[in-house]
Amino acid sequence: MDRVVIVGGGFAGLAAVRRLAGAPAEVEVVDQHNFHTFQPLLYQVATAGLDPADVAYPIRTVLRRAPNARFVHGRVSGFDLAARSVRLEDGRSLSYDYLIVASGATAAVFGVPGVAEHALFLYTLDDARWVRNQVLAALERSDAGAPHEALAPVIVVVGGGPTGVETAGAMAELIDIAIRHDRLRLDPRRTRVVLLDAKERLLPGFSPAASAYAERTLRARGVEVRLGLGVDAVSAGGVTLVGGELVTASVVIWAAGVTVDGTVAAGLPGRRGPGGRVVVEPGLSLPGSRGLRRRRCRRRAGS
Ligand SMILES: Cc1cc2nc3c(=O)[nH]c(=O)nc-3n(C[C@H](O)[C@H](O)[C@H](O)COP(=O)(O)OP(=O)(O)OC[C@H]3O[C@@H](n4cnc5c(N)ncnc54)[C@H](O)[C@@H]3O)c2cc1C
Repeated sequence: MDRVVIVGGGFAGLAAVRRLAGAPAEVEVVDQHNFHTFQPLLYQVATAGLDPADVAYPIRTVLRRAPNARFVHGRVSGFDLAARSVRLEDGRSLSYDYLIVASGATAAVFGVPGVAEHALFLYTLDDARWVRNQVLAALERSDAGAPHEALAPVIVVVGGGPTGVETAGAMAELIDIAIRHDRLRLDPRRTRVVLLDAKERLLPGFSPAASAYAERTLRARGVEVRLGLGVDAVSAGGVTLVGGELVTASVVIWAAGVTVDGTVAAGLPGRRGPGGRVVVEPGLSLPGSRGLRRRRCRRRAGS
């Protein structure tokens, strides 16, 4: 029976498990977390609308529906494609006949200085928890009138794609709730949510009408939408725009795009596409890998 190793229990990895359920194969799903993260709702965790447990599902529970699949908890450190083996950080290895790499992406910082040190991301459950803690702490500091928070809290979101738009809108709602219902002593005229993007419109992957609707809706909720402005650097004080303007910020959320660089998939051989994506053939295989498989099968048949 063929052994299939799937790296990653995200949407892609679990879709593969589903397609393989009932196939004559032993499937192993390996993930660094023992839960699947429902990323589309991470912004709700970050803005205290949902609890972390609401967006995390145990992978073992998901696999109950696939009796030929088992879960392996571990972090993959690399692949030995020639030996058909996956290496785990703790020294274990998993051998396979077929390998599916579905390890996702990570935040792209585009080499902008200070992003890694001073901005917050929204890609994992830990990220979302961290954003939530930092934003709530900034609001509480302002309420307490701490001297270092002489300025009212300013939350800057960089990136006008779906994640940035959702996050900015939800931050504005969070501040509204904090002031009106939780009675935090924040000055609503000075407590700001700023959404920045280098492009001239929000949601560039959507129709111009959708972009205009999103912009109108955010502005109506009090979000300052500033477009056509590149970010030069991020520091403890805020975001410096190309041209030198400093947008002071208590919290900077970086939602400017994703990349494969820095993930375990970046170690796969072959050409790269946009965002470091691994260029694959129509069946999603690495160029040349199907040939290897066929040759191996022929060798087996001939031996
Ligand atoms: C905030 C946010 C909002 C989004 N909203 C939407 C939306 O509304 N609609 C939509 O269609 N899409 C949305 N997306 C995009 C969508 O969530 C992703 O495209 C999708 O989750 C990608 O699935 P994936 O399986 O490729 O990767 P992921 O979901 O990232 O899964 C990768 C898995 O691999 C594991 N992994 C990574 N590296 C290792 C390693 N070295 N060892 C072991 N395990 C590893 C990770 O722990 C993770 O479980 C959103 C994304 C984000 C971040």
